[in-house]
Amino acid sequence: LQTKLPAVGTTIFTVMSALATEKGAVNLGQGFPDFDCDPALVQAVTDAMAAGQNQYPPMAGIPALREAVAAKIEALHGYRFDAASEITVTAGATQAIITIILAVVRPGDEVIVLEPCYDSYVPNIELAGGTVVRVPLTPGTFRPDFDRISAALNAKTRAILINSPHNPSATIWSREDMLKLQELLAPTETLLISDEVYEHMVFDARQHESAARYPSLAARAFIVSSFGKTFHVTGWKVGTVAAPASLTAEFRKVHQFNVFTVNTPMQHGLARYLADPRPYLELPAFYQRKRDLFREGLAGTRFKLLPSEGSYFQCVDISGIPSASQLNESEFCLWLTSEIGVAAIPLSAFYGNQFDQRVVRFCFGKKEETLKLALERLARL
Ligand code: PMP
Ligand code: GLN
Repeated sequence: LQTKLPAVGTTIFTVMSALATEKGAVNLGQGFPDFDCDPALVQAVTDAMAAGQNQYPPMAGIPALREAVAAKIEALHGYRFDAASEITVTAGATQAIITIILAVVRPGDEVIVLEPCYDSYVPNIELAGGTVVRVPLTPGTFRPDFDRISAALNAKTRAILINSPHNPSATIWSREDMLKLQELLAPTETLLISDEVYEHMVFDARQHESAARYPSLAARAFIVSSFGKTFHVTGWKVGTVAAPASLTAEFRKVHQFNVFTVNTPMQHGLARYLADPRPYLELPAFYQRKRDLFREGLAGTRFKLLPSEGSYFQCVDISGIPSASQLNESEFCLWLTSEIGVAAIPLSAFYGNQFDQRVVRFCFGKKEETLKLALERLARL
């Protein structure tokens, strides 16, 4: 069979989680919480099921959830999307992103991705027949390099994909970064795909700089979000896309044929749960405690900590670990999972070809006891 995606195997998250299970390792690899969500959210979904909310919802999502999302964006960022024509409920961010790309990227169009990047972006662009233009984030700091982004932009650039807070580097874009992007895109027709799934996981009193805060970016943007991350329900696969009506209309043309609708009781449950802002407003402090516990635990080891400004990821440089001296970062992750009993993700999984850093990613979105057990094992290195 002639494959459409010759470079693609099974995603690293699936591979590492399977290995972690097989070896009984503490799984700090794949990003998902090992604790449960708020029982009130489960109750809201259960109530919706019991009330008979079990058939197809409207194609774009139930009005109450779209309205709740539009209201939340307005309250947080001061920009009003029209719930009817500009918000769509998706089967998680993964489906949102591939749907956006299939809806707007034509064969021969260029799409800029900033490397390292989430592993679905590049295959999605290739499936749409687009040309992937990889622009590296600044090595070491993972900051956007606007000179390189500017050099990559041309008349064929259909879209640029950004992600803040960033998976895997845990950096976040500043206001200056967003203003610079706005300035670079102003004279172009280039669309913005803004992956904001970690929007509520920002630390040290930082502000999440949503594209919704920048009207001239919002006018050209698809803003992607995921309830999985915000409410500790990654298995539910519910997210949203906010975009101007003209872009949303194109999005829905594809959405209706690749998923049609997203499960009904979860939408009702989420709409009810969103009435109270506390769960997402408390999220930064909740994850910051976990980040601090994990960083303090690693501070006395030979792992070199990189900054973690947002998301639930902590990257570390492994160059100082004696037992890693003969291993590249991929081999190190396999060894760490099998022999030490802690799973991590190699940063190379977020790059195309060239990669010369010795950095791996841990997810600290776990119970305190899980983090402590992992730290005990990591302290032996
Ligand atoms: N984008 C990024 C940057 C992510 O980290 C993830 C989750 N791993 C996704 C998108 C996909 O989110 P979802 O689980 O809602 O499909
Ligand atoms: N986004 C999560 C991560 O980066 C996992 C998503 C997935 O397994 N596809 O670890």
